[in-house]
Amino acid sequence: DATIHLFVRVARLGSRYLLLLADDRTEAHRLEEVRRDFIANISHELKTPIGAISLLAEALEPAADDPAQVRRFAKRMETEAQRLGRITREIIELSRLQAADVLTDATLLDVDTIVASAVDQNHVQLDTHNVTIVSGGERGTEVYGDEGLLVLALHNLIANAVQYSQPGTRVGVGVRLNDGVVEIAVTDQGIGIPEEDLGRVFERFFRVDQARSRNTGGTGLGLSIVKHVIENHGGDIRVWSQPGLGSTFTIRLPAASHAAAASLGEPQ
Ligand code: ADP
Repeated sequence: DATIHLFVRVARLGSRYLLLLADDRTEAHRLEEVRRDFIANISHELKTPIGAISLLAEALEPAADDPAQVRRFAKRMETEAQRLGRITREIIELSRLQAADVLTDATLLDVDTIVASAVDQNHVQLDTHNVTIVSGGERGTEVYGDEGLLVLALHNLIANAVQYSQPGTRVGVGVRLNDGVVEIAVTDQGIGIPEEDLGRVFERFFRVDQARSRNTGGTGLGLSIVKHVIENHGGDIRVWSQPGLGSTFTIRLPAASHAAAASLGEPQ
């Protein structure tokens, strides 16, 4: 549509606008490529568990006389089905976040409560990784937002921190109020992220180590969801990391007293 519209303008206004036309077509082309890549990625990510489930289902019948084998296959089918469920949920969540009206439920929120809920949701994972979560910092800060989404975002960051931690280390969740901005930092002493990948970790389906992430149930969508949630709240997210030393992901959100509350549908 945009291209046709610009063609008409070029015809009317002359060659001065040729550059504008070229730019716009390049942007449209880039967006089309992003969309195509996303769909190709989705199909690839869905094919893997679906393929595994089909193979396991085929293997069940010949293994019927061996109950232990049947149980093993059934267990693996369950794991793959769970992965399929997780990918599907995350793709839907991401699409929903890209819609403009996700913040219709914004309310005044206590940051301590968000941190506590997100930490709570990660408890199951902690035992298997032998990691301790330590949270602290400024108390009583408030932001405007959607509680479920903010807890989800922080949960994803903490889950990654635990997932990529060395056993026996700590994950820190710290809150700071800095010049009208609430900063929530999640720090781990884990494997870290190579410098050349730092700019890409928020991309959909990007994983530093494909095999490792897949084996541990990762979808490569977690950080992309976090980024969308935070940006929808008028904030941003930064990452610092050093391979072998660990990583810090810092979410920055406007503090409630400074927030453009009107734009989030709340009275000041
Ligand atoms: P995944 O489901 O694979 O964890 P994410 O989008 O959450 O997907 O993260 C993308 C990639 O970024 C991960 O596969 C991992 O390689 C890297 N990553 C994310 N968080 C950390 C962290 N705390 N430490 C080291 N690497 C991380």
